[in-house]
Amino acid sequence: MIQVSGKNYRCLDDIQKGLKGGDLTSVQLVQAYLREVKANTHLNAYVEVYENEAMTAARDLDERIHTSSAKLGPLFGAVLSVKDVIAQENHHLTAGSRILEGYTSIYTATAVQRLLDADAIIIGRVNCDEFAMGSDNRTSVYGPVRNGEHQEHVPGGSSGGSAVSVQVNTCLASIGSDTGGSVRQPASFCGLIGFKPSYGRISRHGLIAYGSSFDQIGVIGKKLDDVTKIYEVMKGVDDYDATLIDPLMVEDRPIRKKLAYLKDAVEHPSLQPEIRETFLKKVKSLQARDIEVQPVDFELIDYLIPAYYVLTSAEASSNLSRYDGLRYGRRSPHATTLLESYSKTRTEGFGLEVKRRILLGTFVLSVGYYDAYFAKAQKVRRLIKAQISRVLAEYDGLLLPTTPRTAWKLGAEMSPVQIYLSDVFSVLANLVGFPAISLPMGKDVENLPFGIQLISGTFQEHLLFVYSKLILDDEDSVVETI
Ligand code: GLN
Repeated sequence: MIQVSGKNYRCLDDIQKGLKGGDLTSVQLVQAYLREVKANTHLNAYVEVYENEAMTAARDLDERIHTSSAKLGPLFGAVLSVKDVIAQENHHLTAGSRILEGYTSIYTATAVQRLLDADAIIIGRVNCDEFAMGSDNRTSVYGPVRNGEHQEHVPGGSSGGSAVSVQVNTCLASIGSDTGGSVRQPASFCGLIGFKPSYGRISRHGLIAYGSSFDQIGVIGKKLDDVTKIYEVMKGVDDYDATLIDPLMVEDRPIRKKLAYLKDAVEHPSLQPEIRETFLKKVKSLQARDIEVQPVDFELIDYLIPAYYVLTSAEASSNLSRYDGLRYGRRSPHATTLLESYSKTRTEGFGLEVKRRILLGTFVLSVGYYDAYFAKAQKVRRLIKAQISRVLAEYDGLLLPTTPRTAWKLGAEMSPVQIYLSDVFSVLANLVGFPAISLPMGKDVENLPFGIQLISGTFQEHLLFVYSKLILDDEDSVVETI
């Protein structure tokens, strides 16, 4: 929600009506968001604010709104932030890493280009975990992001800046990336909606690669309608990404009013009791509304994290080999030979977590261990996909919590493995490539928010949206937390 001249604008629809009706100008709107950006700098959500550019775009839009012959794109009035892993021509892009210090992108990501073509305004580039590796936004070279509502807590990650930028109303919605939960988990930690489409829905052209067979661009917002409108603009085939599917090739399945929930997730020992209780209540309330909701078994649950981290680290170690100091960003000034230049650039440029993953990935891909780890994890991924596909052939969607617990404290001492384990429920959707959404579900005793997650069959995003509406129905007030 954003307030302009004493009036509240809760969603894109409100904003567009205001702009067309003359109650609001784009300049006033962008100014209002910029005020919020400035009032919240202590949260460290923004890496760069495009103040002048956003104001110029707003002035241009105002002119066009009042020219009757001008055509307006579907996202006019949508002011968005973009995670620091998605390229925009002539703008810096650093993936929260020292190694990309000073790098300026030479082209624009397809998704961003489509947003701009639809008349969205980009207000700035937001903080994230280094190369999107992390679950609490503490691995960024720019320092941690604070949760906007609970400032002693983390906002989640890796798209922590995205979530907080939306949470404190510095923009309408944010574009993030989700390799294993980075859009859904921070949305859950900040009381927001986080949506990751099917693998192959939104072009990855211009998205810095982490785990290429897992990565998808997603949206964080407060209103389902806003999220779906932004998704509709970004999705669809692109000559630059051969993994995208032609929408004409997939059929929309009809609604059968049947959902499943993962019993093993709800009974998982790591699950916070309040999340379990609220989740089961939610199941009951859906049942009371004539939806069949059945528990299903999933005995592979404890293989999710090992399979995910083996495979994504392997892909990351390969993807990140391009950062050698010759092609992009920062080069170590302390080297005298070529080899030294590679090693010093990477030693100085990458942070601890990224190095850990490169080492782990290189290890699992090495000759002696490839079969034992990488090939095994691929087989596990196939088994997981087969099992979840069977469930989603029978049911419209699969419910599970988004995270086992709510946001931890900023200063909490946690081992890497403890942090990895906190992704247990979110990595599933990326391992199988299916669309998933996190919706605000409740708050724990400390008033920290948590989400419910819904996964649907591949390319069945329409089912996610139908059920999301139903799930949110009685929780509109939770979405509007601030
Ligand atoms: N927390 C997970 C990881 O560190 C997911 C990150 C993401 O989705 N980008 O890999």
